[in-house]
Amino acid sequence: MTAATLDSRLDGVVGGRTAAALQRAFELRTVRELLWHVPRRYSNRGDLTPLTGLPVGEHVTVLAQVLDVRERRMQRRNGKLLEARITDGTGTLQLTFFNQAWRAAELVPGARGIFAGKVSEYRGQLQLQHPDYELFEDREVGSQEAAALDRAAARAYAERPVPIYPATAKLPSWSIQQAIALALDALGPVEDPLPAELLRDEGLLPLSRALELIHRPENAGDWRRAQESLRFREAFELQLALLHRRRGLGAAPAAPRPPVEGEGGLLAAFDRALPFALTNDQRRAAETISAELARPHPMHRLLQGEVGSGKTVVALRAMIQVAESPAETEAGAAPGDGQSALLAPTEVLAAQHFRSVVDALGPELVERLQPVLITSSMPAAEKRRALLAVAGGGARIVIGTHALLSDNVAFYDLGLAVIDEQHRFGVEQRDALRRKGTVLGAEPEEGDAKREAPRRKGAQPHLLVMTATPIPRTVALTAFGDLETSVIRELPAGRQGIETFVVPLLERPKWAERAWVRALEEVAAGRQVYVVCPAIAPGEREEGEREEGEATDAEEGAARPLASVEQTFAELSGRADYAGIGIASLTGAMRPDDKDATMRAFAAGGIDVLVATTVIEVGVNVPNASVMIVRDADRFGISQLHQLRGRVGRGDHPGLCLLLTAAPTGSVARERLEAVAATLDGFELAEKDLELRREGDILGTAQSGGRSALRLLRVTEHGELIDHARSVAESLLERDPELMSAPGLAEVLEREAQQRRLDNLAKS
Ligand code: ADP
Ligand code: MG
Repeated sequence: MTAATLDSRLDGVVGGRTAAALQRAFELRTVRELLWHVPRRYSNRGDLTPLTGLPVGEHVTVLAQVLDVRERRMQRRNGKLLEARITDGTGTLQLTFFNQAWRAAELVPGARGIFAGKVSEYRGQLQLQHPDYELFEDREVGSQEAAALDRAAARAYAERPVPIYPATAKLPSWSIQQAIALALDALGPVEDPLPAELLRDEGLLPLSRALELIHRPENAGDWRRAQESLRFREAFELQLALLHRRRGLGAAPAAPRPPVEGEGGLLAAFDRALPFALTNDQRRAAETISAELARPHPMHRLLQGEVGSGKTVVALRAMIQVAESPAETEAGAAPGDGQSALLAPTEVLAAQHFRSVVDALGPELVERLQPVLITSSMPAAEKRRALLAVAGGGARIVIGTHALLSDNVAFYDLGLAVIDEQHRFGVEQRDALRRKGTVLGAEPEEGDAKREAPRRKGAQPHLLVMTATPIPRTVALTAFGDLETSVIRELPAGRQGIETFVVPLLERPKWAERAWVRALEEVAAGRQVYVVCPAIAPGEREEGEREEGEATDAEEGAARPLASVEQTFAELSGRADYAGIGIASLTGAMRPDDKDATMRAFAAGGIDVLVATTVIEVGVNVPNASVMIVRDADRFGISQLHQLRGRVGRGDHPGLCLLLTAAPTGSVARERLEAVAATLDGFELAEKDLELRREGDILGTAQSGGRSALRLLRVTEHGELIDHARSVAESLLERDPELMSAPGLAEVLEREAQQRRLDNLAKS
């Protein structure tokens, strides 16, 4: 048999059945994927224990000899049980194996070895189920020498850590371990993608050695070194891929969209009409963006800023710059045609963006820039008109949901794509938008000869991504490592504060009543109230996909029904003291125009209390809303709650946020809520979130771009390593942008890109 490589498919290496099981359970298909299925932890065999006085429930290692073996049919289930009794002369112990008759061939009476496992008791008999064991080669029993050898072998064995793999009921850890042993044994020489120099500088184990030691360590030092080496590789390859991608994107051609200088331009007019001065952070971000738009390569920038920090104004200025930027034509500079697209995650938000853009522009600029809204639910005739305005170039600002990505949306000259709330969009959507610029700018529709699109062959639009979720630096590096970052930390002056309180219903059931009365007082004073519930209807699960950081069922009593919009609406409507109060509900299950109408009515003050799911989460702006009550607040993540409460306190009145919860004091859920109540600093909360959250969740949702999950790297814990790996990757790319000196790494990048394409195919 020829040796296996990392790219070999598993069926040829571990057998068809095991391969199928590995694929079903963990989507492992190749030797590489299997070997990167690393142990979650290692258990210690510990010191040798005599068979007298074995502690039930503990892991033990015993040195013993097989007494007898028998196989019997199970009484209650299908299948056969292999039972072996072992002895060390002081006592006996039973080993049991389910459906593994083949072990009878090695566990012959008289065989000596070491047995390790967890002691359990069954009908008064102590036993080890599916123990790990290692038998000694046959030696003459009874000799002094043999006994000494046994002891030495036993000590080495007892020191050897037992890898514990992420496993399933059908595919237990020990059978994964077996498959991995087969793969390691079959594996031929492995070429290390990392240059020798890098291995030396970073003190890394060669790849094949690291893979061997992570799975078959002789002692704890082995797996620790292997973990460190593999973890660095993981961080390094990820950063290298991101940086390489960024370089590639940054090198692509883009049409420069320089600002119009002087006081006569649209941007100058817009600034003059603004009822406020930009904050320093806004100005700084705006200047950076303005300069990047003027370059002949696409901008790729992430704009981070708290809810209400004024990102939209910054984006709007960029859109105006693109619209009025003069285009180079064969006849020289001509007035520009540049269009911008603003992509929002939900219809409600797209509609709201549209309204606030129209408001902010004022009638004169609206006339000049003709902003349009495109959503999948708009009436056909209206949509056709909008699409024509987009294709003809008249509409300079195009606002919509992902419907903008569909094929029938053709731009005349897309210069800038703005994506709001990046965490809901993945890398592939960014790419889809980028392609719109390329294809459509280059080839105007035939027959659309009235105006010829400017020649921008192969040019890509500039890209601005906005997020209100403060992202800790290392997460940003990992999830958005291909983007440059601007941060708006400072909130506009005069912003009213928000007070947040946890209302612990378990300890203080009566306080719920206080919350409803408090809301009523606010309504009486002319203000408006949001009530947020995790579910739409009673007995339902939360709406939509699970949010990052949300409590899991296991973490919290899942049996208790969640507060729902329907039931809360009915409850409030039925209260005598709420008679005459305008109450409405808003959920993602409603028809888009109903949602929109409700949101509009709330914004206009026609509704006093809006009972909603998290559809109101991002960006919604109703300055007169001053109270937010969140029911079952523990069902939401930290960043989500922080975003939610950003809906209140946006006007002249301070905001009040009440987090109702039945989570007990001291639970993680409660701790999350206390954290939210303790600070308004989104960055501090983001760090806290990282601390409390199970790591896997972060990249899972933040990066829906579809990279396979990280193995050893935890953005929560390995910030320094990520930083370091990034700078190593940076300097390598600096010296050798095409990785000529490291062909192995070039292959890694190729594989990475391939993987992304496959993931995208799988999603479409
Ligand atoms: P974001 O998109 O970051 O959540 P917005 O751009 O929607 O924030 O701004 C929130 C509100 O603050 C808007 O009503 C906007 O007009 C206002 N605003 C923006 N920048 C300033 C500023 N520098 N001073 C005062 N108000 C501002
Ligand atoms: Mg916004």
